[in-house]
Amino acid sequence: MWAAVYHTPGGPEVLAYEEVSAPKPGPGEVVLKVAACAVNRLDIWGRSGRYKTRLPHILGTDVAGVVTEVGPGVEGVDLGLRSVAYPVISDGTCVYCLQGRPNLCLGRGFVGVVTEGGYAEYLKVPAANVVPAGSLDLKLAAAMPVDFGTAWGGLVSRAKVGPDDVVLVWGAAGGLGHAAVQIAKLIGAEVIAAVGDSSKAEFVRSLGADHVVDYGSADIVQSVKSLTGGMGATVVFEHVGGDTWGKSIDCLARGGRMVTLGLTSGPKSEVDVRRVYSDELVITGAYGQSKPDVAKVLQLAAEGKLVPRVHRELSLSSAGEAHQIVESRKVRGKVLLLPP
Ligand SMILES: [Zn+2]
Repeated sequence: MWAAVYHTPGGPEVLAYEEVSAPKPGPGEVVLKVAACAVNRLDIWGRSGRYKTRLPHILGTDVAGVVTEVGPGVEGVDLGLRSVAYPVISDGTCVYCLQGRPNLCLGRGFVGVVTEGGYAEYLKVPAANVVPAGSLDLKLAAAMPVDFGTAWGGLVSRAKVGPDDVVLVWGAAGGLGHAAVQIAKLIGAEVIAAVGDSSKAEFVRSLGADHVVDYGSADIVQSVKSLTGGMGATVVFEHVGGDTWGKSIDCLARGGRMVTLGLTSGPKSEVDVRRVYSDELVITGAYGQSKPDVAKVLQLAAEGKLVPRVHRELSLSSAGEAHQIVESRKVRGKVLLLPP
């Protein structure tokens, strides 16, 4: 089969389009014929060596396709099933797995990180990772698990966002942010979308954002205060990291909740802890996504209530170009790779 492979970490040019052996399913595993694979920042980090993988390696965590082979002992997953791969690989046996929290598994990893991923014609995953895509277009389905699944997990499962909330979403035009804006609006909350440059304002308004703040030119804390009558946002969706954590805390109303899901800037930040206790702020992490979260967002997308925006579709042979686009930070929504 054809795949985009890297033999050593480096720039986008290390992604080589090569013929490799197709995977065969072992016990409890299935093989999907890949319809589309979305490109995530996680992929960039793997390719550039920020985390280690086996080499050579095939990236790709956000995958949709059709089941073409099932291994011994697999039950309940039929050939031809249109599905996405649940991104979290877990052992199924530790205390967290038994609590139904495989994203906290003591042996956790991600598809395309600890296994070969979806930058290929075929993907092998544990049968437990198959999530039916229903009638949803498989290209759109590939854009759902990492961004929409994670945003749903953070906003709904963790921060319990409701219709009375005012939600500040950082990086609102990117993959994760554009999912968060749509989810918060679907729940009925008011959304303040923070974007890094004003050219993204129209895009985030088209997603339903009520207000847009260009934090490249405006003071985000002052802007959020003035949009909320001096109160602040009741929820902050934080995934930038060290550069924005302190400002996120400052943007919160008393009793507000911050959900932190990752970082694209550094991991260190200075925070005035007095605000956390004196204003009873709640800070919650959200890591990866649960399988029910992924199933839920797929269902909402099939109903047309969530619509992943596709920035570009490229052939798998152009994986390096896809990485350059994602790294340019000019992306609105998702970049997809399509196998031959
Ligand atoms: Zn486990």
